[in-house]
Amino acid sequence: MLSWFRRRALDEPAAREAARARAEQRLLGHAWPRALLDVVSRLAGERSPAYLVGGTIRDAVLGRPAEPAFDLATELEPEEVTRRFARVEPTGIKHGTVLIVEGELLVECTTFRREGAYPDARHPERVFFTHDPLEDLARRDLTVNALALDPIGRRLLDPHGGALDLERRLLRAVGDPVLRFQEDALRPLRVARFAATLEMDPEEGTRRALASVGERATWVALERVREELVKMMRAPKPSRGFELLREAGLLGLWMPELQRCYGVPQNRYHAYDVYEHSLYTCDAAPPEKPQVRWAALLHDIGKPDTRVERRGEGTFYNHQFVGAELADRLLERMRFPADERAAIVHLVREHMFDFRAEWSDAGLRRWLRRVGIDAVADLFDLRIADVLGNGLRQGFPTYLEEMRRRIECLLRESRALTVRELAVGGRDVMRVLELPPGREVGAVLEALLEEVLDDPSRNRREYLLDRLARLREQRPQAREGEAPGGDAGS
Ligand code: ATP
Ligand code: MG
Repeated sequence: MLSWFRRRALDEPAAREAARARAEQRLLGHAWPRALLDVVSRLAGERSPAYLVGGTIRDAVLGRPAEPAFDLATELEPEEVTRRFARVEPTGIKHGTVLIVEGELLVECTTFRREGAYPDARHPERVFFTHDPLEDLARRDLTVNALALDPIGRRLLDPHGGALDLERRLLRAVGDPVLRFQEDALRPLRVARFAATLEMDPEEGTRRALASVGERATWVALERVREELVKMMRAPKPSRGFELLREAGLLGLWMPELQRCYGVPQNRYHAYDVYEHSLYTCDAAPPEKPQVRWAALLHDIGKPDTRVERRGEGTFYNHQFVGAELADRLLERMRFPADERAAIVHLVREHMFDFRAEWSDAGLRRWLRRVGIDAVADLFDLRIADVLGNGLRQGFPTYLEEMRRRIECLLRESRALTVRELAVGGRDVMRVLELPPGREVGAVLEALLEEVLDDPSRNRREYLLDRLARLREQRPQAREGEAPGGDAGS
């Protein structure tokens, strides 16, 4: 009798072919845009048709929404592709990739190629164009990314068993995973990203090989690392990807601040260590709010530096401020755009807000003024994720409902939370106090805002002009350069 392993090995080619045929059926029934099929037929070469490849095929088999750019492969070289279309951008022309723009349609078009050595662990020294689509599929990273559909000739190429791996939800390197990860250190990161976004597992050999890239991973440009992590953040559970990176010893190379949270114990308010809590909080944050997800991942990275043990429990005073600085440096290193970085750091810094029913309206207004109305919804989402991520199943933090109601009331009453919303402006201050433009004008407006925050009914033009007139009366006594009005100049 055949052993289970032998039987399975013999069945494997048949199982692959059956899966290929199922995927082919599905893809041929897919509603490809007419304009895309036109592009495919215009890119047919003499020896080979053009193929839809990469994420375009993978996602269509999985029934996932398409990425904005379709992936296409052809034997035609970039110059010839460029000749055939009105608008073609040379996005990666050295490696044979151009972007075809046909109205709304974006097609990333790559010439079939083999690759030479990878001296820098990221870019092949030379690329060799080929006429053979199978050679092109052999240089691709994962079997699930190495399918090619000729939609005109109605044939799916699947030389590496990608269709079966898609059904089994396995990420398997094409060829020897150790060699494939060593030649391009970005690939382990792509595996982590796909594991999270596609909710698949790396096949055992591929998983073990992730660590083989080692220090070479630091050769990858941090912009590329960020791009992968940003895509990973849209996954149902980004933790799946971060965990793979940590297990492979790669997380600490790119995000040492997060790696340091691993194994840092907390207190009775948490079931998890700081690292696990960060991951679960990130998973619980809304996927459609990437900044909240980043803030969730980083909100406690100040904890390892601030941990003090009191009566057998961890305390972390001011970890939000230390964490905000660490997050700022991490995001800057990853080349995040400045505005995104500032928004994420702000959430990390403010994530410890507290609310009690006995808070005064003035106190709540001052808090709103500091965090900014625009950040409130994100801070609430972060708090909900933070509570869900502590592992104690406490349920929804209901005080947020009360806080939301109080804030809505305050905003209905008055929106004057910044000097711009005051009923008087800089011009009024300069006219009444006979001041030149400058810092003193701003200081006076801040002093008026403080009065309005205590009592919003003061935000009337007559009242504030009257206050200015009274300040003017006091002014002759003020020393040169000193701001008038209370502590506004301090
Ligand atoms: P998505 O576009 O959804 O982010 P993708 O897999 O399509 O994912 P692309 O960057 O568009 O990613 O690449 C298209 C295809 O090119 C991939 O599916 C894969 O076949 C191949 N590829 C991309 N990057 C690599 C790499 N670093 N090593 C090997 N093959 C790669
Ligand atoms: Mg793609």
